[in-house]
Amino acid sequence: MVSIEAGLYIVATPIGNLGDFSPRAREVLAAVDLIAAEDTRHSGRLLAHFGIATPQISLHEHNEHERSGELVERLRRGASVAVISDAGTPLISDPGLPLVREARVAGVPVYTVPGPCAFVAALSVSGLATDRFAFEGFLPSRPAARRQRLADLADEERPLIFYESPHRIIATLTDMIAAFGPDREGCIARELTKLYETVLTGPLEMLRSRAETESRGEWVIIVSGSEPRPVADVERTLEVLSAELPLKQAAALTARLTGAPRNKIYAMGLAKKDQAER
Ligand code: SAM
Repeated sequence: MVSIEAGLYIVATPIGNLGDFSPRAREVLAAVDLIAAEDTRHSGRLLAHFGIATPQISLHEHNEHERSGELVERLRRGASVAVISDAGTPLISDPGLPLVREARVAGVPVYTVPGPCAFVAALSVSGLATDRFAFEGFLPSRPAARRQRLADLADEERPLIFYESPHRIIATLTDMIAAFGPDREGCIARELTKLYETVLTGPLEMLRSRAETESRGEWVIIVSGSEPRPVADVERTLEVLSAELPLKQAAALTARLTGAPRNKIYAMGLAKKDQAER
């Protein structure tokens, strides 16, 4: 067994295909004093498969706040601890953030052992823009909150990336069609790196009907960004409305009609007024 520097190791594990477990990840997990795992039974099977016998302790969303203090104490005394989640990169829609924060505050070294991450894998095969994007993780499970979140994102120009479970994929795609329109392009990807890997691209309406026939599996949903709104539309709308109404009201209506932010429109109106008065 290789010896290892003391510190906290954030270790990515496969999202399906065990061949994606990196040699370094395995080496680190075999060498640390302790593995903090999201689900010790689930990780136990992975570790046993690779002959890794390091003791485990649980670190999940319900105990991570208390447990982080305890683990940082051990790290301070010179221990080496690895964090793993059920699949992919810890902290990405997974536990680990309080521990990393506390370790940093305590001056404990934090090392990355990078590897699989479902949304990066999906984005890289989607054919959608990759230069800028917004990762939104899981949407709220309550329909009203989910719809509100999607409405707030309707004008986002970067591609939006979501995680979704099999039992909500259809409801979520239906809400996305309502918020973004049926023709907005997207990509849905499930079972990545596994036998039934499926990556579908096209308008949201088409993706929903495809998902209706094969909804099983964990999904990544990517929705391409909104087309930028031409500034002229906002300017022209504001000009017409402010000829008839006080600026505050004209700006509020322009915001509703164009979706542009009200404070920016108001500032634009003030600047125009200022120019006209000079
Ligand atoms: N930390 C993980 C990562 O790095 O991707 C994500 C954990 S999150 C709790 C689980 C979600 O990731 C699933 O609901 C699904 O949206 C996505 N996911 C995980 N594995 C996947 C796979 N093999 N194919 C598609 N999506 C996957």
